[in-house]
Amino acid sequence: MFENLSERLSGVFDRLTKQGALSEEDVKTALREVRVALLEADVSLPVARDFVKKVQDQATGQAVTKSVTPGQQVVKIVHDALVDTLTGEEDPGKLKIDNPPAPILMVGLQGGGKTTTTGKLAKRLKEREGKKVLMASLDIYRPAAMEQLAVLGQQIGVDTLPIVPGQKPVDIAKRAKQQAAMGGYDVYMLDTAGRLHIDETLMQEVEDVRNVVSPRETLLVVDGLTGQVAVEVAEEFDAKIGISGVVLTRMDGDGRGGAALSMRAVTGKPIRFVGLGEKMDALETFEPDRIAGRILG
Ligand code: GDP
Repeated sequence: MFENLSERLSGVFDRLTKQGALSEEDVKTALREVRVALLEADVSLPVARDFVKKVQDQATGQAVTKSVTPGQQVVKIVHDALVDTLTGEEDPGKLKIDNPPAPILMVGLQGGGKTTTTGKLAKRLKEREGKKVLMASLDIYRPAAMEQLAVLGQQIGVDTLPIVPGQKPVDIAKRAKQQAAMGGYDVYMLDTAGRLHIDETLMQEVEDVRNVVSPRETLLVVDGLTGQVAVEVAEEFDAKIGISGVVLTRMDGDGRGGAALSMRAVTGKPIRFVGLGEKMDALETFEPDRIAGRILG
């Protein structure tokens, strides 16, 4: 679908004179291609521009290693710079869940993969860290959402808070907190309601819940294929609620993953996990190296 960037750059460099070090001209030519590749990968224009400028200074004057072409060398420099920018936490998969019961608040728009990710993460915490997890759905607007979480819970062997019709999200959150303390749970995860767009009511509701439970982690779940929109959603949630990390879903799709770079560059928030499918096992810790390779193609 996309032409491989390394090949594209090699073609460009074949026309340039071979020199001992990367000349400004070489670097400029290569970085024009890199910028196009970033834009094709759905990195936003200002982020791509800033990034390329940063790399330009770094690359100019670097000695060319014999074993690689200048094009490959610039790609390597860009790759390393991408990894550097994408790296937010040394161990993004390690959640702050000491001091039980630790509340984890899951937020995001409807359809982004919040409920699915809640289940995936609960399963991971249970199986990899031996945690006793309680999940609760606060989505009072779609009764099917509560059922969906209960079904997932059964499937993965994780408890869900019993559904009490007519309760408000804040009251459900309080009940979850109480149940988690009484039941000896290590973690309780609150799957908040999403909307198609951000609105005041949604934000107020999430804020109220946040104030009641003081979450140890507030994870924003966004569709990684939505690119710029995902970044805007993250900015809004962070401004109003304060998020501690991001989960990018649908990274199994054909998107190039540019949203990850824009996300880090614009919001400064670490990407903690990526969703790689609908199954309960399809969640991985975010690996900057892998996304960098994917962005470059
Ligand atoms: P919510 O409204 O944010 O709670 O979204 P859901 O968890 O209900 O997910 C919406 C749809 O996206 C469901 O069909 C999920 O199976 C699907 N989904 C969630 N995460 C992923 C993912 O990482 N990859 C793919 N391919 N589908 C996903």
